[in-house]
Parts: sequence; C-alpha cells; structure tokens
Amino acid sequence: MTINQSGWKPSAPEAKDGGAPATFTGNKALMLEEVLIFEIGSTDTTGVDIVPAPKVASRLGGLAREAAIGLPGLSEPETVRHYTRLSRQNYAIDLGLFPLGSCTMKHNPRLNEKMARLPGFSDVHPLAPVDTVQGALEVIHQLAHWLVTLTGMTSVAMSPKAGAHGELCGILAIKAALEKRGEGHRKVILVPESAHGTNPATAAFAGFKVEDIPATADGRVDSDALKARLGPDVAGVMITNPNTCGLFERDLKDISDAVHAAGGYVYCDGANFNAIVGRVRPGDLGVDAMHINLHKTFSTPHGGGGPGSGPVVFSEALTPFAPLPFVEKTGEGFRLVEEETADEHHADSFGRMVAFHGQMGMFTRALTYILSHGADGLRQVAEDAVLNANYVLRSLENTLDAPFAASGPCMHEAIFSDENLADGFSTIDIAKALIDEGFHPMTMYFPLVVHGAMLVEPTETESKAALDQFIGALRSVAERAKAGDPSLKTAPHFAPRARLDETQAARKPVLVWKEPLANAAE
Ligand SMILES: *Cc1c(COP(=O)(O)O)cnc(C)c1O
Repeated sequence: MTINQSGWKPSAPEAKDGGAPATFTGNKALMLEEVLIFEIGSTDTTGVDIVPAPKVASRLGGLAREAAIGLPGLSEPETVRHYTRLSRQNYAIDLGLFPLGSCTMKHNPRLNEKMARLPGFSDVHPLAPVDTVQGALEVIHQLAHWLVTLTGMTSVAMSPKAGAHGELCGILAIKAALEKRGEGHRKVILVPESAHGTNPATAAFAGFKVEDIPATADGRVDSDALKARLGPDVAGVMITNPNTCGLFERDLKDISDAVHAAGGYVYCDGANFNAIVGRVRPGDLGVDAMHINLHKTFSTPHGGGGPGSGPVVFSEALTPFAPLPFVEKTGEGFRLVEEETADEHHADSFGRMVAFHGQMGMFTRALTYILSHGADGLRQVAEDAVLNANYVLRSLENTLDAPFAASGPCMHEAIFSDENLADGFSTIDIAKALIDEGFHPMTMYFPLVVHGAMLVEPTETESKAALDQFIGALRSVAERAKAGDPSLKTAPHFAPRARLDETQAARKPVLVWKEPLANAAE
C-alpha cells in the first residue's frame, strides 16, 4: 500500500482570498485540510506482531483471505486528529443558528445531557432483570404518560427509532386494524402534495398504493378533492399538521370525520408538533396515529450517540394493534409487556418494531425537557417557535417572494420562493452564499408546491439578536441575487470545497477507496 508517510498532502489551492499566498499544507490557519483516512498513517508502523500460529489444516474450503484486508494503519494520536479535524468541518447547532425547515434544529439543553449520563440510565442493559431497572421503566412510563396527555390520545408505542420509523409503525397498525375487520382490500393511502417525502415512502413500503391529493392556492390540502376521493378502497390518509408549508391544516377535524365515515384511518405526521404543543391536541382533531420526533419537539440531539426515538401515539381504535413491548404500571411497580397474550388490550398487536424497548438516552433527555418546562413552559415553546418564524417571515417578505405571506401568520417555519431573483439566479445561489456567511443553508426546493422553495425554521431557542443576524445575512445575499451579482454563482468562496458535482455524486457514487497506484494502473 502506498502511504504518504508524513500524513500531509500538500495541495496548492489557488490564492483567492484577496491575494493571500497558498500555504504549503493547504491549510488556512485553523481551517485544516484533511485527506481520507486511508491516505494517512502506515500499516508498517502500527499494530502488534503476533507469533505465527502453528500450522493447522484449514477448514475454510478455499475461502481463506489471501491478501491484506486494507484497513488504515493509524496510531492513536493520528486517529484522534483525523476525526477531530473532520468534526471541525461540520456545522453544528452549538456553532450557530441552523435554519433547516422541517428539521427543527434547536438547542439541546445541557441539563438533558446531565440526566442522560446518570449511570442508572446510561448503563442499563436491555436484558437486565426487570426488578433491577424499575427506575428506568418508570422514566419510560412517565414520558409515555406525558406524550399521551399532550396529544390527547389513548396509548403510545415507545420503541420506534425515528419519525420515519414511527410512520411505518402507525401504518402497520392501520393495516392490522383493516385486516382484523376483514377489509385488507383497502389498498390506497391518500397523501397531500405538500407531504414530507417519508410519508409516501412509508405507505409504499407497507404495501399500499399512494395517491396524491393537490394543495389549494393558499398552501393547504384541498379537502374537497380529498373527500371526493374517499371510498371503499381507501385505507386512510397521511397528513402533516402543521404542514410543510408552515401552515396549520384548519380542516383536519372535518377531514378526519369524513375519512372515518368512509371507513379509513387518519395518520398525522407529527414532526412539527413543536408548533402546537400545549395548544392543540391531535386527539381532538380525530387523528388515529401520529409520530412524535423526540429530536424535534423535545430537544433530544439529532443522531446523538446512537439511534433516535420516534414514539407513536394511537387513538382508541388503533390501540389494540399497537406494537409490543410497552411498560405497564402494576400494584408492585412496573412491568414490561413483551408478548401477545389473550389480554384484550394487546392480543391483536401487530408485533414488534425493534429488538428491545426503545432508546433510553433519548427518553431521559425528552422527559428532562418536558419536566423542566412544565405545562405552561411547553405551551410557550410553541408560541415562541411560531413568533420567531413570523418575525423571519415579516422581516424578509419585502426582499424575497413569500408566497403565503398574504394568507396570514405562518406556524413554526417561514417559506420563500426564488420568483423575484435576477434571471439565471436560483435558490441554490442563495444557499451557497449563506455558507460564506457562516450559516447552514435553509431547506431548499422543498416543499415541491413552492417554486425554488426556501424553508426557514428558526425554532424557539434562538434569541432576537441571533435572528437579526441571520435575517441580515439572508437579506444581503438575497439582494445580491436580485441584482445578479456574478460572484454568487461561484459561492461559497470561503468553504474548503465549493460547488461539487452533486448529480455525478448521486449517479456515480464512489464508495470504495482504491489505492492511487492501483487506480493509475487501470
Ligand atoms: C423530520 C420529518 C420526518 C422524518 O423524521 P425522521 O425522524 O427524520 O425520520 C417526517 N415528516 C416530517 C414533516 C419531518 O419534518
């Protein structure tokens, strides 16, 4: 294997920072270049020498590995530096405002982390005897209680690991309920145009046929079109509320009643529950199943040291079909219900989503967040999230085209289009220039119902000063895009890499590193 022994790979970047010279290393002060892990270190200088094993007859039948496996050979400091350098090239919520719409990138309170690290929670093993983990089970039970109370639903499945996984859980419960009624022939799930991409993917994955329902001009689901499509082949609907245009679906109760009357079920994508928590209970709107992304509404980290958590709340109608396991409070303490029994409450469970009981670390963080806010504090979370988004919307509606600004206040996210930019300029140019301004770009080109959509979700955890700085940056970049500033077309200018060929990367992904010499010989 050829290895660059020094670990440095001098590249000679063009001097584009106002005539600054290119550096020997390619680094720019604290902005450090980093090559692939395979290109640093050496297998000759690391590892241990093992005394050769005595010769035995191989039983691998020709499957024995003959060549080196090709793992990188790094010492501990080289390894630590490699990953630390890479980590510094990430944008993070602890570095600045993260305006990704629909993703709800909010501050993760340190109190959550402190609680999650208590050994009684962080060291529990999923196979520990139930009588040794009563406290952990109580945390799961208390969080379940809060989720059911806040949503006005009947029960909750705690085991799903993310929002999309929760959608699958809800749709499988709907499927089980239909089959129990002998109506497994209902194969169509209706999904509005403004739905998150995971919704149709979930329905299709569970074996349903997806049919689109159009949106109205004001960005909401066309409830007349939806009602007109209901019938004996429709299993249910999947509706996001608040929706991906950042608007509240005012007709949801009316839609739910119509869906139920036609024999279907209502799945609500609750990813944006942070905009309504403490103010609206989805159970009152006729929802049958809804996932809650703990990493959105309840401030757990997005991908924090393992799987996430997307509990699913159920209506009374779907509760019998909810997955196992669940925690139950008994006279003596808490027990885990792990198997279908004749018990009327879970004889019809559709099965399991995961091997164990869910993600303890995320449960502890979410419960900490809930208890530290209390009922009034959670209500204020929703109010502040909505206030912040409206501040962004009203501050920029005269700069960027805001297609739904005239229909009234938005919920937790503000949406803009690329309608009024100079010819040849689009959302991508604004997003790339925001990188130079030190911000992660907003969600782009989604939802599809808005041309060149820019979806901005500030969340409730940003201060007015932070919002003003972001608004100032976005306004400045937007003005440049309206004036046709050509330098925007090559932004970002200050990032280690600028415009990558994303189409090529998606069509011809290079996922396996090959030795440069081997490459050259081909
Ligand atoms: C984030 C999101 C999802 C998917 O949730 P994950 O936890 O990322 O799987 C689904 N729907 C909407 C509207 C979302 O914002």
